[in-house]
Amino acid sequence: MAGPLKNLPQIQSLIDEPLISLIVTQYSHSETVDALRAIIGALRSSFLADGELSLPDFSSAAFAASVAARVEFARRPSLRAVINATGVIIHTNLGRAPLAPSAIQAMQVTAELPSNLELNLDTGKRGSRHDHVERQICKLTGAQAAVVVNNCAAAVLLSLMATASGRSVIASRGELIEIGGSFRLPDVIAQSGSVLREVGATNRTRLSDYEAAIDETTAVLLKSHTSNFKIVGFTSSPKREELARLAAEKGVILIEDLGSGVLLDLSPYGLQDEPVVSDILKAGVDLVMFSGDKLLGGPQAGIIAGNREIIARLKSHPLMRAVRIDKLSLAALEATLRLYAAPFDPFAQIPVLAMLSEAVADVEGRAQRLVHALAEAQWVQVEVQPSIAHVGAGSVPEQGLPSFAVACHVDGYSAEQVTAKLRAYQTPIIGRIERGRVLFDMRTVRESELSIIVAALHQIQDA
Ligand SMILES: *Cc1c(COP(=O)(O)O)cnc(C)c1O
Repeated sequence: MAGPLKNLPQIQSLIDEPLISLIVTQYSHSETVDALRAIIGALRSSFLADGELSLPDFSSAAFAASVAARVEFARRPSLRAVINATGVIIHTNLGRAPLAPSAIQAMQVTAELPSNLELNLDTGKRGSRHDHVERQICKLTGAQAAVVVNNCAAAVLLSLMATASGRSVIASRGELIEIGGSFRLPDVIAQSGSVLREVGATNRTRLSDYEAAIDETTAVLLKSHTSNFKIVGFTSSPKREELARLAAEKGVILIEDLGSGVLLDLSPYGLQDEPVVSDILKAGVDLVMFSGDKLLGGPQAGIIAGNREIIARLKSHPLMRAVRIDKLSLAALEATLRLYAAPFDPFAQIPVLAMLSEAVADVEGRAQRLVHALAEAQWVQVEVQPSIAHVGAGSVPEQGLPSFAVACHVDGYSAEQVTAKLRAYQTPIIGRIERGRVLFDMRTVRESELSIIVAALHQIQDA
């Protein structure tokens, strides 16, 4: 060891320091050793970089506190709350839909206490977990029956396995989607044990294409919501009513994978292309499936609604057990669905719907308050600017929501450096970069989060 580096203590001698040995007792030997190694390693690197070695007092309380802080830091949870300042309301990477307070409370109670998850309280006999939300879903969608599974991907797989295994599924070439995370419809159809018959062209599929493809092997006509892309221009596809009539005539099942699936008309809020579940069932679709944590605004879940006989087949399918919804999600889903009926106002109480329906003037007000809170900070330039927010998670591509953002430049730092520092903040803040500046889109930021953004920006400057 060269020169001053000789003065760096051995790890064991540090462990023997009375205050450090307390940390060993409080946490563990291996975590304390890891923290000490990191600290000594940093001292060595900084000496090698600038030739100076300033050693702390290794027996001091301040040094012990820095070791404990490092152990705590290493112990911080991997899955943590972040601030979504992206303007994407249902952000796939940020956990999709935030839950309503009543849904969170329902999860808490169900987590803490035993429940009648699979007990029929009327008879005292075994009940079914499916019973808890079926009536609510039927009421809200007009379906004869419904069942809920782990997520919409599981809903598609289960539905095809139970209806089309060993037979064929007809789908339009324009609807053979990949959802992300390698969930590709053709692969799912293959996994279900059924054979895909593609019909039509990417941009146009006619009713006669479906009709010509139906043969004695056909079990299902599968329609999918092209939720994360849009084909524009010279396009056509048959109406649901026409497909439903054809399916009924030929004795096959019409299934629609809706992905997002909304229970209420969102066109007053500028979202024109999201079909409402009850309209789809009214048009004659036999089975429709959609996610619980997209525009519904609830927990991760896959909701399947439609024909009673087909739903009964799904409930008794052997795969059901493997894809069933867990009790916490079920509790949150029941509480979320309740918010769709009187006396509640879903647009006020379900965070996803509240965010997308918030008046743009209110969004702008939040942007102005953030700028105001940073007015005294000379080292940061902030400015309110119009922005386009998005629903996200493959819901309603193209359609943007008017919004306002705060654009921000911190003296001495590039936008990339600022976003990296904000991600490393104790409550990570996720914004986006536009033309060299960091943008915080206020449609997805809560009032209570403004002060955290201010504190995080101050910390960049103080560092
Ligand atoms: C999002 C989506 C799915 C998958 O839903 P998960 O809840 O993520 O499993 C399936 N189909 C479509 C059309 C989707 O948009």
